[in-house]
Amino acid sequence: ERRRLAESVSGPGRTADGHPVKLLVNLGASNELPAAAAADSEGVGLFRTEFLYLDRAQAPSAAEQVAAYREVFTAFAGRGVVVRTLDAGADKPLPFATAADEQNPALGVRGLRTATRDPELLRTQLAAIAEAAADSGAEVRVMAPMVSVPREAAAFAEQVRAHGLRAAGAMVEVPAAALRAGELAQVCDFLSIGTNDLAQYAFAADRTLGELAEFLDPWQPALLDLVRMAADAGARHGRPVGVCGESAADPALALVLVGLGVSSLSAAPSCLSDVRTALAARTLEDCRVLAGIALSAPDATSARARVLAEIAA
Ligand code: PEP
Ligand code: MG
Repeated sequence: ERRRLAESVSGPGRTADGHPVKLLVNLGASNELPAAAAADSEGVGLFRTEFLYLDRAQAPSAAEQVAAYREVFTAFAGRGVVVRTLDAGADKPLPFATAADEQNPALGVRGLRTATRDPELLRTQLAAIAEAAADSGAEVRVMAPMVSVPREAAAFAEQVRAHGLRAAGAMVEVPAAALRAGELAQVCDFLSIGTNDLAQYAFAADRTLGELAEFLDPWQPALLDLVRMAADAGARHGRPVGVCGESAADPALALVLVGLGVSSLSAAPSCLSDVRTALAARTLEDCRVLAGIALSAPDATSARARVLAEIAA
């Protein structure tokens, strides 16, 4: 009996009634690759490429990028890898891509916006990703950070496809993107919710300020409203919607996210097994009930407490 329980909590994520939920890893540095590749996951849900660009005076060459991406793609042959294009600016400043004199860097030229200022940065990166993806055996998808309006997502998707890459996605980390997720879903193949930035922008609370942790709590019902909006829009247009912010690492919150309609969860490799176990013990309908409880709570603390109480009941 115990062995059967252990067996039931490995492999692809699914609820007790068999509803599939992709469990994916976040990857943000080359030294994380062995643990990420060894984890029981269906692939990478968020490959943060900033590490290649940090601590440099200029962008890495195309050849250097191809080598770095190929290492990751071959390690995930037979699985999927979602590459996020460069997310420079705000908490990730780069001397060659971001202005040092912006008064509000989190609201400045960051993420996909840097590609408007310097199109060559994105062009080189997409070409390198496409070259590394070819014959790697991995299913490579590409998504853009900090998309605010559908026009940006459409232009990005067009560029991604022009490089022969199979799928283009938009991150939902700006409230405007969640509000208009239906329009994003019409021009993209998938959406991925970055709850770290989505909380920062929804609550006007700097994500690097520990003092504001209450606002940045991913159990905030208003944040969950935005997640539900994006998930509903994805469902209406037949597009998968995942979560790749830190919220996906909390097993109880993962149940809520699935209940809100999220179809994949991407987190640090060490968190996946607890999330998988939590999912295996609940039906999709249970998850929907938990989501309803969280959404109707007055604040993050009671949302968490009420959901945990229901799980324990
Ligand atoms: C996020 O904002 O939630 C996210 C996944 O991206 P990052 O933390 O790299 O900004
Ligand atoms: Mg982000």
